[in-house]
Amino acid sequence: MSLKFPIYMDYHATTPVDPRVIETMLPYFNEKFGNAASRSHAYGWTAEEAVSVARERVAALIGAKNPKEIVFTSGATESDNLAIKGVAEFYKEKGDHIITTVIEHKAVLDTCKRLEKDGCRVTYVGVGPDGMVDPAEIEKAMTDKTILVSVMLANNEVGTVQPIEAIGKLTRARGVLLHTDAVQGIGKVPFDVEALNVDLASITAHKMYGPKGVGALYVRRSKPRVRLTAQMDGGGHEFGMRSGTLNVPGIVGFGRAAELMRLEGVEEAKRFVSLRERLLASLSKSLDAIQINDHPTQHLPGNLNVSFSFVEGEALMMAIKDVACSSGSACTSASLEPSYVLHAMGIGDDIAHSSIRFGLGRWTTEEEVDFVIQLVSQKVQKLRDMSPLYEMHKEGIDLASVQWAAH
Ligand SMILES: *Cc1c(COP(=O)(O)O)cnc(C)c1O
Repeated sequence: MSLKFPIYMDYHATTPVDPRVIETMLPYFNEKFGNAASRSHAYGWTAEEAVSVARERVAALIGAKNPKEIVFTSGATESDNLAIKGVAEFYKEKGDHIITTVIEHKAVLDTCKRLEKDGCRVTYVGVGPDGMVDPAEIEKAMTDKTILVSVMLANNEVGTVQPIEAIGKLTRARGVLLHTDAVQGIGKVPFDVEALNVDLASITAHKMYGPKGVGALYVRRSKPRVRLTAQMDGGGHEFGMRSGTLNVPGIVGFGRAAELMRLEGVEEAKRFVSLRERLLASLSKSLDAIQINDHPTQHLPGNLNVSFSFVEGEALMMAIKDVACSSGSACTSASLEPSYVLHAMGIGDDIAHSSIRFGLGRWTTEEEVDFVIQLVSQKVQKLRDMSPLYEMHKEGIDLASVQWAAH
């Protein structure tokens, strides 16, 4: 088979929609176009029935006991907002303190920042050099005023799988609600809201081979029953938690994607593990001075975040344009800032800038991995051949001990 360029290795950012998912969605654009809220005729009933099948499928994927615990949204950004703002508003008489971590997705961090402006107190717990949150730190941060802890299931840059089970034990014992942004881990690592004592969970379809613009918030209905203040007012859809006409084709696709993930996720993850191993082993063999930023064991199966010392991040991205992947430099219009996640792990700016996140997924082939190995090895070596620092490193000079002339 011939390769298609650029080779897609950015499955954390989004995924193509599985053809089986598209097939399931199609009738709901025209033939079965009804509004799921129309109670008076068959068009509405058909749509409502399809939504309820999807709700069951999403519930089954995460171990939710009751499909009514699934609230459909426009994606995980909205789910994160609804969970955190909704809890902060509803429980404000009970407390005003939220605990989260410094490595959360912006949808969580910026929501917390907004709440701080509105008078909430937020503790941002740090991570170790391995990107892992320490449950003891969460426990230490808890006060009588803590109403919510929000920790992601798996990080979207370094793939670290967080100790949600241990955190869930703490929050449950203290009567504090636990929210997790489960987007990256869903279907790839074990996740069961009952086993983990999770009260709220954000997920999105487009990171699991479903369509963009549709997601869900799991909201526990018993032991404890979680209450939320809706952030969108209107017709009282989604059990009063999220008004707005449902995106029926999107939800149907999300449901199908969830079902496929439930049936095939564990098996396909094994393939990612071996492809990742191949990529890692070959890069390590052909290049020296590389650093793996993933946690040694607790990482997503298809995640490889690696830094290449002595190369400049931007030059590297330019050199490997045939691979669609992400770099540790968050490119904003004005500046080139190193990733705040790598920064939180104590990784310096230079190493952060030269880091690449490879994300493998459902359609990644061995042939693609082999091409990427060859391309990256060759280009990194070429860039290093032009680097005086690399030259010194090879000669065994300890660069940290060099006295650089002031300029
Ligand atoms: C992609 C992502 C989001 C945002 O999801 P959308 O559906 O695109 O809004 C939130 N959290 C994490 C961890 C993500 O990777």
